[in-house]
Amino acid sequence: MLIVQKYGGTSLGDSARMAAAARRVSAVARQGAQVVVVVSAQGSTTDDLITAARTLNPRGSAREMDAYLAAGEQLSAGLMAMSIGALGEPAVSLTGWQAGLETDGVHGNARIIGLREERIRRELGAGRIVVVAGFQGIGPDGDITTLGRGGSDTTAVALAAFLKADRCQIFTDVDGVYDRDPRRFPGATRYGRITYDRMEQLIENGAQVLHGPCVALAKEHGIVLEVLSAFTGAPGTIVCAGQP
Ligand code: ASP
Ligand code: MG
Repeated sequence: MLIVQKYGGTSLGDSARMAAAARRVSAVARQGAQVVVVVSAQGSTTDDLITAARTLNPRGSAREMDAYLAAGEQLSAGLMAMSIGALGEPAVSLTGWQAGLETDGVHGNARIIGLREERIRRELGAGRIVVVAGFQGIGPDGDITTLGRGGSDTTAVALAAFLKADRCQIFTDVDGVYDRDPRRFPGATRYGRITYDRMEQLIENGAQVLHGPCVALAKEHGIVLEVLSAFTGAPGTIVCAGQP
């Protein structure tokens, strides 16, 4: 059993939340599953980095922005691996390029085109939980590329697809996918299940719960996505092809 779990920035927003996510990861690993964890940058880190960069150079090159912004996820990955380690489980953090994620090289909005999976397989084979920095990969010229805002979801789905994972869980700060933004519309209703096509429509209409490209990727590879709260034990929303 191979499980990919992704944790968003709010779900890792402070040390207590990071530790809670680490406990969830460790619990799954203790049940015998191989676990690949994808992490976003903590809290508002990416926004803060963008502000800092723009203050010094409003027209900094896309290449340098990518090299700089990717660090947010790397900090998160190292911290997550150490948090898991503190619970007695062996874990290793990998950047996007260490994990073998290859992109088309488009800075700021790269598409994942492949995975050299040896490194992740080797770490899993050695009994380690693998923590991958989301939102990033390496382009054909060897440079760091990022996947666009919210791109860690797509890292998770790509890893689940290439590694043929049994489950792909996206942990977030809401308890699933709603027909309207639950933070603005108290009457919004949560889907227990939703099709890829309907999910893509919701994203087109402005839903931010998932990164758009990850849904197309999930659909293409038949990856069933579970979107669920990092804070409750509730079942969340299943994103899938729908009734056969
Ligand atoms: N940290 C990046 C962002 O804020 C990627 C992500 O969170 O998925 O857009
Ligand atoms: Mg997101």
